[in-house]
Amino acid sequence: MELTKTISTPSVTYEQPLGLYIDGRWVRGVEEKTFETINPTTEEAIVAVHEAGPQDVDIAVKAARGAFDGIWSQTSPSSRGFMLIKLAELFESNIRTLAAIESLDNGKPLKQAEGDVKLAASCLRYYGGWADKIHGKTIDTGPGCFDYTRHEAIGVCGQIIPWNFPLLMWSWKVGPALAAGNTIVLKTAEQTPLSGLYAARLCHEAGIPAGVVNIISGFGNKAGSAMASHMDIDKIAFTGSTNVGRLILEAAAKSNLKKVTLELGGKSPNIVFNDADIEKTIEWINLGIFFNHGQCCCAGSRIYVQSVIYDKFIKAFKQRAEGNIVGDPFDENTFQGPQISQMQFDRIMGYIQSGKDQGARIEAGGRRIGSKGFFIQPTIFSNVHEDMDIMKEEIFGPVCAIRKFDTEEEVIRLGNQSIYGLAAGIHTNDIRTAIRTANRLKAGTVWINNYNLLNAQVPFGGFKQSGIGRELGKYALSNYTQVKSVRVKID
Ligand code: NAD
Repeated sequence: MELTKTISTPSVTYEQPLGLYIDGRWVRGVEEKTFETINPTTEEAIVAVHEAGPQDVDIAVKAARGAFDGIWSQTSPSSRGFMLIKLAELFESNIRTLAAIESLDNGKPLKQAEGDVKLAASCLRYYGGWADKIHGKTIDTGPGCFDYTRHEAIGVCGQIIPWNFPLLMWSWKVGPALAAGNTIVLKTAEQTPLSGLYAARLCHEAGIPAGVVNIISGFGNKAGSAMASHMDIDKIAFTGSTNVGRLILEAAAKSNLKKVTLELGGKSPNIVFNDADIEKTIEWINLGIFFNHGQCCCAGSRIYVQSVIYDKFIKAFKQRAEGNIVGDPFDENTFQGPQISQMQFDRIMGYIQSGKDQGARIEAGGRRIGSKGFFIQPTIFSNVHEDMDIMKEEIFGPVCAIRKFDTEEEVIRLGNQSIYGLAAGIHTNDIRTAIRTANRLKAGTVWINNYNLLNAQVPFGGFKQSGIGRELGKYALSNYTQVKSVRVKID
């Protein structure tokens, strides 16, 4: 099978790489297998890509090891930074193509896909800036010694990313790893392999040496698990479900104790106090749950509204959600596209059914839209209690539940009643209520009077079972460096 194919989308026609990008070359997998990626809008195959198996993971790791010990260790930090900044520029100059690929393969609206590309570029540029500012300390232990630390790269990093933000997750992984001087084997999600391959082509164009970034397409239980248990991968970074996160940690423990960072699921509370500005809050609550079709690890899916404004809120929010335009991602008016796959579609519809069966009331939505494409109406439940599945489990779709509360103390208890702790939202006009509540919520990010705001400078990650480690900001660099102490006797 060929290694590239011309693909036409409603916005651009472009040349799509299909091979595995290993050691700076486009190759077929050793087993010569391919798999199809499906357009979630039409349910039809877009194209088949080459599939990596465990042997290809081995080959990619050898290439990454060779580059780590060789050319990459000879490249100055400033040159690494320059290449990342060049890559950011290439993301920006290829924005139309990259966004079209995301809309085609993932189903996200074109405008939102462009937003993802911009955020990905800003992440790469941000870490490009860090590359030559990573350094240790000198430590005074008295006159007889000279002591200092070095923040050294860890080595070969395995990175496994999900399908909900294919390019953005690609950049969150690649940016800090390269800035700190590591080399990479990255596996994209089997549902969305296309944009990661196109980004590999841009790595080539940015002058990143062969073997430094290796991008493979493949399945979790084959290529992914081979990475997690590989004896020569020094660190693994994973974003995806909590269940798979557990498997990764277990595989790392059973193999070479590779370092692990995990960015996992969530069931985030979004809290509205009586004194919130209702109009603005509804916009954030709507974005908090329905942005990216509810397929966000930080989705604000448990909405707690204080009793005085509860009825007014439900009425206004229902109206807002019913106004969200669901449809073709290439149509400029679309706010919500299709869910990623038949499997996710079925899972979400199963949760909607379970909500009904367990006695929750549907305020809006609850149905499929059309008969082709994985489209689901924005769905709001009320009349819920904490032990319903829809209040406990990550649905990863356009489905939320609203619950009434009376006091601050009560909502903090309810908000924290989850195995997850990724994010939370607070809406109030009282700064004291906001800060008191933010301090007591067990979440890695708390958004006050906004939701889903992301910047490369601000760390992101989970408390409790939402993960280990932090991505973004200076904090992410510590996932990709190890500290060496050097002690020199000078007397
Ligand atoms: P997943 O965790 O199975 O997949 C994420 C990535 O992990 C993919 O690249 C996949 O190939 C890989 N993977 C799967 N099994 C693996 C294994 N045994 N070893 C190594 N890698 C493996 O997620 P999914 O099945 O695509 O989605 C299921 C649920 O996961 C969703 O409904 C949602 O709740 C959650 N999810 C969360 C995020 C997030 O950003 N936190 C992203 C995607 C999915």
